[in-house]
Parts: sequence; structure tokens; C-alpha cells
Amino acid sequence: MTATKPQPRAQQSDYVICPICNRGKLFYQDGDAEDDPIILILPGSKRKARHHTKCDVCRNQVGFTIKN
Ligand SMILES: [Zn+2]
Repeated sequence: MTATKPQPRAQQSDYVICPICNRGKLFYQDGDAEDDPIILILPGSKRKARHHTKCDVCRNQVGFTIKN
């Protein structure tokens, strides 16, 4: 028996979750988009982030950059 049910495209996991507290939703990400994925850069990382956003839950600033 083969069930080929189409996978739901829009899911709650489309939010990029804060890597520090694992609770805050940093921003929404459309899983259907063909754009390059975002790389999160934690505070203290050697890598310099071009963009920054702040987590509403833990108030930490999380950097991110677009992979290309
Ligand atoms: Zn957080």
C-alpha cells in the first residue's frame, strides 16, 4: 500500500527560530522561495554578519547573512 500524500508546504517551521534560546521567532521564512538560504551568526562568532535582528524572547542580537 503506497500513500502518496502531498506534503503540506506551509508549516510552522517556516519561522527561523532563535539559536540561542530556541524559542524566539526571528523572522518568517517562506519555504517555497527559491532564494538562497539564510545563515545565522551567533554573537561572539568570528564571522561578521551583515544583518542583525533581535530575539523577542531572550533579547539577544542574532546576526544573519545570505548564503550565495
Ligand atoms: Zn532568543
